[in-house]
Amino acid sequence: MKPFAYVRATGLAEAVAAHGARPGSRYLGGGTNLVDLMKLGVETPDTLIDLAGLPLGSVEETADGGLRIGSGVRGSDLARHPLVRTRYPALSQALLAGASAQLRNVATTGGNLLQRTRCPYFQDVAKPCNKREPGTGCGARDGVHRDHAVLGHSPHCIATHPSDMAVALVALDAAVELQGPDGARTVPATAFHRLPGDHPERDTVVEPGEIVTAVTLPPDRAGLPSHYRKARDRASYAFALTSVAAVLDVSGGRVRHVALAFGGLAHRPWRATAAEERLLGAAPTESAVREAVEAELDSAEPLRDNAFKVLLARNLACDVLNSLSGSPLSRGSRS
Ligand SMILES: Cc1cc2nc3c(=O)[nH]c(=O)nc-3n(C[C@H](O)[C@H](O)[C@H](O)COP(=O)(O)OP(=O)(O)OC[C@H]3O[C@@H](n4cnc5c(N)ncnc54)[C@H](O)[C@@H]3O)c2cc1C
Ligand code: SF4
Repeated sequence: MKPFAYVRATGLAEAVAAHGARPGSRYLGGGTNLVDLMKLGVETPDTLIDLAGLPLGSVEETADGGLRIGSGVRGSDLARHPLVRTRYPALSQALLAGASAQLRNVATTGGNLLQRTRCPYFQDVAKPCNKREPGTGCGARDGVHRDHAVLGHSPHCIATHPSDMAVALVALDAAVELQGPDGARTVPATAFHRLPGDHPERDTVVEPGEIVTAVTLPPDRAGLPSHYRKARDRASYAFALTSVAAVLDVSGGRVRHVALAFGGLAHRPWRATAAEERLLGAAPTESAVREAVEAELDSAEPLRDNAFKVLLARNLACDVLNSLSGSPLSRGSRS
């Protein structure tokens, strides 16, 4: 590993100033992704600015009844927080579906949002990768891409975003608070991660020097039925082939609120707006759910080896939405 300097910041302004004063700086959360990538030579920062000393480690109810989660809150603490478990169950379920207990004890909310893709070509400095080194090509497109994107990819990159937590945040209409050299701003979780386009090296809209300070959850999503489910190659400790986060509120036999997001299908958590538009106001019958999900996945462009993801995503989304609407799960309706 390349030698690097270490700075332990004790305040936000101090951390942002240290970042600006030291070219080649990177912020350090739990280090479970960044330090791994440093060992592989993918990340080569000159300075690590540790955020562990900043006052970003609490979960607080907001005045309007929502929740504000500091970016330093650890995955395990967030997953078992009583207000998260009771009011936003999909978030708790998504966190518990990710990584291992040991990793969740260390990984932070900010670091989870900003973790990099698990594309093996990105992690291997001997391979071409436009995300790691722009202009070198994409090794995965004609190579091993079973795990890669089927939605929203570009000729330059077909990587998926790996976070489970981020998928739930997108379905729950969360917002991400940032603090940087130009002040504070808030970005909706749906707009936080980018599609690859011509610049796959940029995963998010975070500007240089900006710190993720918090994630907020809106009060009007609190208590709505929500669920997260993940399909993976083995029962635990594996990234999503496909995952689904859904919020579904039905009253009087009609859908009053619906939010659907997919993980493992795209460069960012994929908010299924076409499916949502079809379902809102409709009776949530199994056929209506299936048609809505299929309408969303019509835009999928699978590659040579990952067409199975489209079917997997369809079945997973239908099962989750049907179970939230109270309909019996019907295996016979799948194909
Ligand atoms: C074996 C293994 C299996 C895993 N399985 C899963 C899984 O199934 N699902 C899943 O979702 N994740 C999984 N993970 C990933 C894990 O969740 C991430 O490594 C972790 O969430 C990153 O958090 P961290 O705090 O350690 O981030 P770090 O490694 O410290 O940082 C990650 C990135 O975020 C930046 N950063 C950190 N905090 C901030 C901040 N507040 N503001 C600005 N920038 C910041 C860093 O500079 C770095 O670029 C797995 C990891 C491993 C090693
Ligand atoms: S899919 Fe993206 S991350 Fe993977 S090799 Fe291609 S450019 Fe790199």
